[in-house]
Amino acid sequence: MSITTGILYIISAPSGAGKTSLVKALIDSEAHIRVSVSHTTRAMRSGEVDAVNYHFASREQFHAMLDKTEFLEHAEVFGNLYGTSQKWVKQTLAEGLDLILEIDWQGAQQVRRLMPEAKSIFILPPTQEALRHRLTNRDQDSGEIIERRMREAVSEMSHYVEYDYLLINDDFAHALSDLKAIFRANRLLQGTQQQRHSGLLSELLV
Ligand code: 5GP
Repeated sequence: MSITTGILYIISAPSGAGKTSLVKALIDSEAHIRVSVSHTTRAMRSGEVDAVNYHFASREQFHAMLDKTEFLEHAEVFGNLYGTSQKWVKQTLAEGLDLILEIDWQGAQQVRRLMPEAKSIFILPPTQEALRHRLTNRDQDSGEIIERRMREAVSEMSHYVEYDYLLINDDFAHALSDLKAIFRANRLLQGTQQQRHSGLLSELLV
């Protein structure tokens, strides 16, 4: 096992800001980054795969996990329960891998309290119209749900001030390069580099 602990990232965004596509492109290009697969009681959308997009669970199963304190954080979003497996987070970081939690602002607040070293990133859409357009184009939810998600998006976005980094997803390639820059810069922090290159440092300083 590596002695270097991975870096924990929280990424939040309103639904439709492009968070999932950006995170997927990031992890496809970087071998040392993983993304946590949350548990949820929400119904599976078409194209989603159990244990890939989410671990889909009944409310009973979710509450049983809650009772056993299996979640690092959990929250109710749009009437559905979501939670992050505590065990998986700890194991992945202990392996020296960076880990992304794609969670909402409520979960982000809980994780910051428990793990204040976590870095948090908020992704914004370029305009409200772009957000509405993206939600409509998804064609997965009814008009009523889209309107509700627009209201929820504004409420989610009001929490951007609580995050370390703010990313505007206007142009996908540009936003992806900004996201990669955040991850790279954090791996270059002196404390992190000191752990990773302890052998080199002791050799250089004799
Ligand atoms: P969706 O159902 O559209 O995939 O996600 C709805 C919202 O739930 C998004 O804001 C997403 O970030 C959030 N979410 C997904 N997984 C988790 C989780 O494990 N914990 C928390 N707190 N929020 C989550």
